[in-house]
Amino acid sequence: MDRNAMYRRIPKVDILLADDDIQCLIEEYSREVVMDAVRTQTDALRRFIGRSEDEKSVQERIDRLKCDIRRTVEQMYRPNMRRVINATGTVLHTNLGRAPLNPRHMQRAAELISGYSNLEYHLESGVRGERYAHFEKLLCKITGAEAAMAVNNNASSVLLILNALAHGGEVIVSRGELVEIGGKFRIPDVMKQSNAILREVGTTNKTHPEDYEEAVTEETKAILKVHTSNYRIVGFTESVGIEQLVSIAEKNGLPVIQDLGSGVLINLEKYGLRHEPTVQESVKKGADLVCFSGDKLLGGPQAGIIVGKKKYIDMLKRNQLTRALRIDKFTAAVLELVLQEYLSEENAVRNIPVLRMITKPYAEVAEDAKCMLKQLEHKKNLADITLQPCESQIGGGSLPLLGIASMAVAIRPKEISAGELERRLRHLPVPVIARIVNDHVLLDMRTVGKDEMGQIAEQFAEHRVFEVSDNR
Ligand SMILES: *Cc1c(COP(=O)(O)O)cnc(C)c1O
Repeated sequence: MDRNAMYRRIPKVDILLADDDIQCLIEEYSREVVMDAVRTQTDALRRFIGRSEDEKSVQERIDRLKCDIRRTVEQMYRPNMRRVINATGTVLHTNLGRAPLNPRHMQRAAELISGYSNLEYHLESGVRGERYAHFEKLLCKITGAEAAMAVNNNASSVLLILNALAHGGEVIVSRGELVEIGGKFRIPDVMKQSNAILREVGTTNKTHPEDYEEAVTEETKAILKVHTSNYRIVGFTESVGIEQLVSIAEKNGLPVIQDLGSGVLINLEKYGLRHEPTVQESVKKGADLVCFSGDKLLGGPQAGIIVGKKKYIDMLKRNQLTRALRIDKFTAAVLELVLQEYLSEENAVRNIPVLRMITKPYAEVAEDAKCMLKQLEHKKNLADITLQPCESQIGGGSLPLLGIASMAVAIRPKEISAGELERRLRHLPVPVIARIVNDHVLLDMRTVGKDEMGQIAEQFAEHRVFEVSDNR
């Protein structure tokens, strides 16, 4: 092969830039970006010619140079973070962004954020305001608390509360509640970080009121109760309820802090789920501070919400850590909209995606599954596609062990393995995340929206997901 002749066949940069297709690209993406891609691709082509012995394959690469340039430009602008379809049935999937938000809320928040706002400005008096003001009254109305605020996430809430109330002193916690949440958040470690000293009482399975009473000393600053949200201790067990802790604390002039984790604001029993302690219950029983996540069962944006007695909330607001852990304007905007839905339980269940999914009746999920099955039926020659009852999880460390009856479309490909199908679904333009059970790929319809069903069907029709010849 005559390499010099091949090098000469590479179009000159000015010729390339004058080309109609490349001109289109420039108009769409800017000259700077296209020039960069032209250089990258022509350099790569030169290197290829330098090591290739095969004239035909070199000519092929020269012929597709313009395509390669377009691909390079498009790749630069393809976001790495993308929308995916969650067909795992795990509603609060930590790896998939936990709580999805209502597009209507997002749209309204986007309008607000794209301009200036009264984030920390009191419109009536024209003086500086608080970013919590936009949702503090709502939180108080919904939970019955005196005051409220929010920080970056619930891990921050715990850190801030311990630092503000117990810095340099002791905090009493039951051994059975020394939890580790996903992402290495451990109560003993947060305690250390906040400069509070952990005073463990009781045993792993049993803690009695006297264990707390006997542990109170001059050094005690607070009693902490942590909801064991991601595990259960069953069998011979006993723990001390929040009312009893409040009465012990009152006798000793101490505050009771409750880390609830999930932040449930409605009674889930009404929807056939197990009772999960609500924020309202904790407030009513006298907890001085209650903290919980914004993006677990509450179904809102990532945040750590803290409600309770005004005296303590004021202490938190004055703490230096608050400045470092404060929520951003986007979160403040969305949080207000999500909390407004809770003014009516009916609205909350209808308009908050997390609540809608976990309360979706089995019959409705089964109906969706049937509809999905019908849309995939034309692939019957390539896979066994059936309906299969399954169990959805709440996830996100909420209500562990609780499976919600659900229905899946179960797919067993004939030519390829279930593992290969699962991988291909992840590589679709809109990735579909599914799980494998007994050699079947399951699409749990509880977490798949109506419009997403259409997207799944379209992608199955357009892409060769089942064929053995597909070697993407
Ligand atoms: C989830 C959880 C946290 C951490 O909340 P994030 O919002 O994820 O930071 C803390 N405490 C408990 C009990 C939890 O369940």
